Amino acid sequence: MYTRPFASSGERLHGWLAAGLDLIFPPTCATCGHVGHLICPICAQQAEPAPQAVCRRCGRVQAAPVEQCAQCAAQPEHPLAHVHAAALHTTPVREFIHLLKYEQRPDLAPALGRYLTAALLRPEWDGLRDGFDAVAPVPLHAERLAERGYNQAELLARALSRRTRIPLRTDLIHRARHTRSQVGLKAQERADNVEDAFLASPACAGLTLLLIDDVYTTGATLTACAAAARHAGAALVCGLTLAMPVH
Ligand SMILES: [Zn+2]
Ligand SMILES: [Zn+2]
Repeated sequence: MYTRPFASSGERLHGWLAAGLDLIFPPTCATCGHVGHLICPICAQQAEPAPQAVCRRCGRVQAAPVEQCAQCAAQPEHPLAHVHAAALHTTPVREFIHLLKYEQRPDLAPALGRYLTAALLRPEWDGLRDGFDAVAPVPLHAERLAERGYNQAELLARALSRRTRIPLRTDLIHRARHTRSQVGLKAQERADNVEDAFLASPACAGLTLLLIDDVYTTGATLTACAAAARHAGAALVCGLTLAMPVH
């Protein structure tokens, strides 16, 4: 009898409850402890934007922005059309990513996803941003997913999808095999480590995809994912990450 009106206002009720809980237990900044936000305005301001003088194709830092660097020009079949990092992997973004990945803080993903949304609004993405059929996270291997309980790249992709309305697709790219952590590996070792590590579904055929990951280091992981998607028939593949290291 009373279920109908209550059910229809359920979402609003949930919103009020959440707002009420925020008043009683306000969130604190995950790195500095300031009360009020998971990422406080002071920390948000300290995030350093990634340099603009990069190769549009591979993201490597250059003297000036270029469509493709010498290395990319030597590899005409590069599977990534465009890669971009939202910020530098410096304090406090580095700490937020560490918390998200290694300290069981999946709750940070929606706030961090805002950096991805902002990055996608930059002029580098003109002509591309409205053409994406799907955002697809770099998949985690099942073992690591079981350990962590979530794929941080998927949470970031979900946050971006919610804000941009580009559909999230987690069914397109899979891990074909387990790879060791890329941390501490040199560029060639990273490329070897992830070569053929991904398999893409035939459902990629004809799609324009935006791959999402947390950190872009040498681009080996994104390149391997993009290669799999292109092999499965994806029309165009781009990559967007939260951070890139200082070179
Ligand atoms: Zn803070
Ligand atoms: Zn390049």
